[in-house]
Amino acid sequence: MTTTTEPKASSAGAPPDEAWRTTDADLPFRVTSGVWRPEIVEKIEKTIARLDAELRELSLDLHAHPELSFKEHHAHDVLTKFMEKEGFEVERQFHLPTAWRATFSHTGPNSTSKASRTIGVNSEMDALPGVGHACGHNLIAIAGVAVAIAVKEALVEFGMDGKVSLLGTPAEEGGSGKVILLDKGAYKDMAACLMCHPAPGPQGSASLSSCLAINGKKVNFKGHSAHAGLSPWEGVNALDAAVLAYNNVSVLRQQVKPTHRIHGIFHGNEWAANIIPDNSEMTWLVRAPTRAEANALTKRVEPCFHAAALATGCEVDVEEVTRSMYDLRQNKALGDELSTLYQCRYGSVNHGWGISSASTDFGNVSYELPSLHPSFAIPTVPNGGNHTHEFASAAKTPEAHRATLNMCKALAAVGVRVIEDDEFFAQVKETFEEDKKKREDEFEKAGL
Ligand SMILES: [Zn+2]
Ligand SMILES: [Zn+2]
Repeated sequence: MTTTTEPKASSAGAPPDEAWRTTDADLPFRVTSGVWRPEIVEKIEKTIARLDAELRELSLDLHAHPELSFKEHHAHDVLTKFMEKEGFEVERQFHLPTAWRATFSHTGPNSTSKASRTIGVNSEMDALPGVGHACGHNLIAIAGVAVAIAVKEALVEFGMDGKVSLLGTPAEEGGSGKVILLDKGAYKDMAACLMCHPAPGPQGSASLSSCLAINGKKVNFKGHSAHAGLSPWEGVNALDAAVLAYNNVSVLRQQVKPTHRIHGIFHGNEWAANIIPDNSEMTWLVRAPTRAEANALTKRVEPCFHAAALATGCEVDVEEVTRSMYDLRQNKALGDELSTLYQCRYGSVNHGWGISSASTDFGNVSYELPSLHPSFAIPTVPNGGNHTHEFASAAKTPEAHRATLNMCKALAAVGVRVIEDDEFFAQVKETFEEDKKKREDEFEKAGL
């Protein structure tokens, strides 16, 4: 006998809507076998249960004090205080005024001469202008805290040699804080690095999707002002240059892949309708599924600016607006391990939801060392995804908190295995090297 299940549709004729909605009932808790050293996972679950109420308080405190990129002073203070209380060595203002590091090392009774490994974890803290914690970084902040403390307690309980290093990373939204920290060597001692991010998605799900690489360009057009009625022929119109550049890009969009994104704005100083504008400035963001594709696409976008300058007689200057962010290279061995664990105990895993069409500065980290950045679903309303007021509301619900903690349990267990299991860590390194080769092939294919 066969049975069929109709996909759940949001309304007649609409595509299936599988995102976890605020009205959905709870799913039953699942436990199946297949987990590496279940006693470690149980210890991690107990630690996170112990921390639950305090983490909730911390999350709501951060949510109530949204701070923009590089201004995460309150978050810096409360998170470092919390980590200190939990027995970590804390370095405040670590390389950046609002960055910090909390580390814990343990040497077991059966310590061998082999060098112990450090697992890295990241806590994001920044909010967005106007919409507060609409990317749920309050949840990411407490996730880093929970993972680091759970790893610490597992190291102590099972007498393992190892270290956990939690970085408080500022300015994910537009400031590429992790890229700055990466350049300053903050990730140097890590064998692998872990973090997670909330997003819409099916109830109880985790996503191992990648995200888009992004290049930012600032374009300046310089013209010559003139009276717009008396002698417009004396002017060189920088606003016209910006308009033409915008239109050139709009035409180019028709000839790029559906996975590519090119979006920009323009503005100017002291414009008036009766003056031919002598200046204009544009900010453009160019995104594609890989760094190689994003670079190749950027090469096609730049002539749009130069053509506009040529047509109007303006001078043009193109420079990088922020540090480029790379696509997310989810380490295969780390991802497989998380997937097994998550599906055995916490929910489902997919590769399509998550933050797939967004970008993150953690992408650059994933190019540098084995890394994992799973997303986890929180309940949202239709059209209430990341960067909306509705998502900010979703990020403070008890359901979102529980989903965060489930992801933390799985991530902490992956972290302990990186520290403890040599064979597993060899696979982590091997899959990292394989991916490195794949990246080189992507660059070659893109003609870069
Ligand atoms: Zn965001
Ligand atoms: Zn975010």
